[in-house]
This record gives sequence, structure tokens and C-alpha cells, in this order.
Amino acid sequence: MAELPKEPANLHHRRKVSMQRRFVIFSTLLFLVIFIAGTACFVVFMSAILRDSTGYSLSRTVKIERLKLENHVNSEIAIVTKMAGSPLLKAYFENPESAELGARAFEEIAIYRETFIANTVFWINDIDKKFYFDDAYAYTVDPAVPENYWYDLTLYRTERYNFNINYNPELDNISLWINAPVFNSGGKPIGMVGTGIDLTAFINTIYTAYAGPADLYFFNRYGEITGARNTSLVADKRKLDDYLGEIGRRTLAKAKALDADEITFFTAGSRWDGTVAVGKVEALEWYAVAILPFRVMDALKTHLTLLFAAMMVIIASVFVAFNLFVMGLFGPLNSMVRALDQISADWDAKNNDKSEVETLGAFLDMAITDPLTNLYNRRYMDGNLDKLIKSLSRANQSKLSVLMVDVDHFKKYNDAYGHDEGDRCLKTIASVLSQSVARVDDFVARYGGEEFAVILPNTDEAGAWHIANKLLETIRECKIPHKGNEAAGSIVTISIGGATAIVTHSQNASNYMKRADRMLYASKKNGRNRYTHEAF
Ligand code: GH3
Ligand code: MG
Ligand code: MG
Repeated sequence: MAELPKEPANLHHRRKVSMQRRFVIFSTLLFLVIFIAGTACFVVFMSAILRDSTGYSLSRTVKIERLKLENHVNSEIAIVTKMAGSPLLKAYFENPESAELGARAFEEIAIYRETFIANTVFWINDIDKKFYFDDAYAYTVDPAVPENYWYDLTLYRTERYNFNINYNPELDNISLWINAPVFNSGGKPIGMVGTGIDLTAFINTIYTAYAGPADLYFFNRYGEITGARNTSLVADKRKLDDYLGEIGRRTLAKAKALDADEITFFTAGSRWDGTVAVGKVEALEWYAVAILPFRVMDALKTHLTLLFAAMMVIIASVFVAFNLFVMGLFGPLNSMVRALDQISADWDAKNNDKSEVETLGAFLDMAITDPLTNLYNRRYMDGNLDKLIKSLSRANQSKLSVLMVDVDHFKKYNDAYGHDEGDRCLKTIASVLSQSVARVDDFVARYGGEEFAVILPNTDEAGAWHIANKLLETIRECKIPHKGNEAAGSIVTISIGGATAIVTHSQNASNYMKRADRMLYASKKNGRNRYTHEAF
């Protein structure tokens, strides 16, 4: 026997793993997309964080937080100075005995009080030196007492207003007192007005609103911390340089050289790595400083990078595991396909471009059909007839008819026209047979060389007789010339044997086939081109 030409081994392999290869390519691409998208997000995210650590960004922070504090204080100063210029208040300060003036002045003071953000107001008339706080008499000021230094300071050495900042340990807050002298029309001081702001509360709202990565501090011109998240630093009047060391010293030096609206920043000292921005809060004569140590950023960068790498490793592992799992599924499929290769070289050529699943599908088709006629083959018919008998036996009184068809004098046909013409004739007969049985459950199989079986479920003797006659007639109508079949007019004819029975579970395929075969033999014996039938 001539050896079949072998295809190259690598081509062979490439073809058979196509599904597997497609899957690997798909999951690799998916992973790459995730990796690239993830990296892009990571880079954008990181650079957004790192941008916050530049001096310019910190300066912006200082500017904003400084403005908030300054606007707040400036607004209170404007109200205090306006109030100090009120003609009604001046008239009242000069005539404290007048009940009518008093009533009107109190009304106006109440309005001023509501105008202050702090919602507090105090005033002292120099005539009686009574300290009123929020419309109520609190105590009488004695200017001779040293703690009341601010009284003379305000009345005799202040033109518009002054500040008095003090820490209240009982309330744990810093109060900012804004004091303004009140002058009569002759320019003589006749008392003072003012408001007290809770700076701690205000600085706290600044901290709450600020969500950036830097540390924020406020400090005064003596270097004392006046605002910090940690209020004990304020209570203890801790010095910035004492608390922050090198950063504090450099900050104070920079602060001293600042102009009113200037904000400056510096980075990376030799002993300390970081970025610092410092600016002046003009209204209070305070300074604001935002500090972002680089080591914080470095740690963050390292942690985020590690986290990202870990995530990518996990995702990659999941992909690899999933690929291995799918490879496992492909394993048995591949060995089946390899087995098919060995079954037939012819098969191989026909299914060259097919994937494993398509190959298997084609193989299953091949397993149940006859390649010449495309009818079901005998193996399929045998198995299917047994199944059919089982299922019909469950229904009551179901009838099954089986027809065996054999071409008359087919040996002679071959002899006369050649084997190829014989094959063509069989194809024609096959298509006529399958077109002649119309019901969905009916089916035709090629039982042997030129023998066919026609299975007719739920068909009684009369139905079988009807179909058999239709088959005989239709084949005759084809008028395929057949010199060796003179008795039937030298055209191709068939003989049919039929068997019909009520289906029971004790029957099997061969019960029907044997009887149909016997009836076929009878048809042949009685002159061919006819139908013989048995019911059992
Ligand atoms: P009878 O009327 O008694 O059936 O006579 P017959 O010559 O048909 O006898 P039989 O059924 O025994 O012969 C079957 C012949 O059919 C044998 C073979 O030459 C031919 N044959 C069987 N299978 C094929 C096939 O696939 N192609 C062709 N061309 N011929 C086939
Ligand atoms: Mg035969
Ligand atoms: Mg025959």
C-alpha cells in the first residue's frame, strides 16, 4: 500500500490548537489592556499626589488658608471701626445718664453684635468705666491694674484699632480681641468698643476644610505658634523653631524677610528633606506655614507602587491560573482530535481549517452518516431504532412500521453501466427515498450496499402500505434506464419488505428488521418491484 503523504508536524500542531491559541491570545491581550489602563491610572493618580508636594502648590495652600483667616479678621475690624464712629454711640458715651439715648444706643449695639461673625460685642464708657459684654454689664475696669494695660493703650495710644490675643486655658481657646477707641467731635477719647473672636474655632474650621497632605501652622512675629492642629502647642506658646528644629529656624528666617503680600517656599535642606511655603497674615501680623516632608511622599510613593505591583501580580496569576484551567479542558479535546487524525488521513485533509470543536462536530456527523448518500448509516439506525422502540413502548398502542428496500438486479446494473454509475444511481434512489417520507419522526438509513431501511413511527399497516407504494411509484417515475431489468420495463425498480407491530418494551430493532428482511425476500421471490408486508 502506498504511504500517505505526511503534512509537516508543526502545521499539524498549529491547526489543532487553534481554539487554545485563540484563548491564550485573547487572555493575554485582555491582561495587557488591564495592565496598560492600570498603569496609566496609577501614573495620573501618583502625579496628582506628587504635584501637591511642590512649593508652588504649597504656596497656593498658604495663600488660600491665609486669605480665609485674613478676610475673617478684616471683616470684624471693619465693623469695629465703623461702630467706633457711630454718632449715636458718641452721644450716648457723653450722656450716659440719658435713658432715651441709652435705649437707642442699645438697639444699635444689638444690630452691630449681629453683624460680627463672632457675634460678640463689648464697650466701655470712659465716664463710668463699666465693661459691657453682649449688652450686659460685666465688671468695672480699673486702668491702674497691670492686666488692664490694654485700656489706656486703646484710649490714649491707638488711632483706629488694636489687637489683644490671649489664650484662655479654661476654654482651651485663643481669643482675638479687636479694640477701637471712640472719640468725641473734639477728638477727645470718651470710651472704647470691640469684639472678641474665638480664633481656635476659626483655625479649626480652616483645618477641617483643608484636606491636603501638608501640615499647617500659624505663628506670630515672636515665632510663637498661634494656630496648630495640636492646640497644646498654642497653649504652651511653643516656638516654631523649638518645635520643628531646622525647618522651624529656616521658616522664621524666611518669614522675617517677607513683604506684606509675599509668599515664599524652600525645599530640601541638607539635614531635612521637604518643601515649606510661608506667607504673612497681614491683618493679624501672623504667618502661615505649610510643610510637606518628602519622606512622607517617598513612603507614599513606595507603598502605592508596591500596592500596584501586588495587584498586577495577583491579576496576572489569576490569568495564568485561568489559562491553565482552560488548557486542562482542552487536553481531552486535543487527544480526541489527535485520535481522529490517526483514524483517517482523508479526514485530516477535509477538516484542515477547523477548530477542535468544529472538528469534533464534523466527526460526529461522520460517525452517523453515510458519505455516499448522506443518509444515516446502519450503526446510527440500529441504535436509534432501539431508542425509538423504548420511547414508543411508553405510549399506549403505538404502532411502528419498518420498511426494507433493495434495488432490483443491481449487480447487473453495475455490470452494465459501471460502478461509478451505480453509485450515482444509489444517490438518486437515496434522495428520492428521503424526500418521500415527510413526517419529522420518519427517517431513512442506508442499511447496506444497495439496501435501505425506512423507519415510520406511529404508522400502521395501511400507512406503511401507502408509503411503500409511493416509494415504488416514485422510483419507477425516475425512469433510470436499467437494461438488466427487462421484466420491469428496463428501468430501475426496487423491492420492499415491511413489518408493522404495536410497540412493546420487550421488542428490539432486530424483531422488526428480521421480519422486514423476510418480507423483502418474499418480494424478490414473487417477481421484484413490489411490496410484501407482515404485521405481528
Ligand atoms: P436482487 O434483485 O436479487 O437484489 O439482485 P441484486 O443484483 O441487486 O442482488 P444483491 O442485492 O445481492 O446485489 C447487491 C449488489 O449491489 C452487489 C454490488 O455489486 C452492488 N452494490 C452494493 N453496494 C454498492 C455500492 O455502494 N455501489 C455500487 N455501485 N454497487 C453496489
Ligand atoms: Mg441486496
Ligand atoms: Mg439488490
